[in-house]
Amino acid sequence: MTDAEIVWMLSTDESDQADLGQWLARLTRRPSWHTEAACRGAGTDAFIIGRGCNAAVNARARAICAGCTVSEQCLDYALADVDTMGVWGGTTGRQRRAMRAAVA
Ligand code: SF4
Repeated sequence: MTDAEIVWMLSTDESDQADLGQWLARLTRRPSWHTEAACRGAGTDAFIIGRGCNAAVNARARAICAGCTVSEQCLDYALADVDTMGVWGGTTGRQRRAMRAAVA
């Protein structure tokens, strides 16, 4: 069973229960700015970086972000969603937690 299926089973939203396909489409929908993202096609492995990750992998992801034209939108999106993991808008999850704490 996938994570998406588990979340669907736990959902209390009746519209989710009625149409799994529609729910999955909503779950996987990308924000409009994502069409301009420099990381498109780079693969999630390059950006979803776990604990104790290799510094070179982290630096490579952030270097792609440095040349991205939608990094501001990307960072805003990631700051608004505490569940985002890995590098977004040139920041790590730890950096975003610190940014949220600084404005709280
Ligand atoms: S800022 Fe980085 S993570 Fe965000 S869309 Fe651009 S390349 Fe991708």
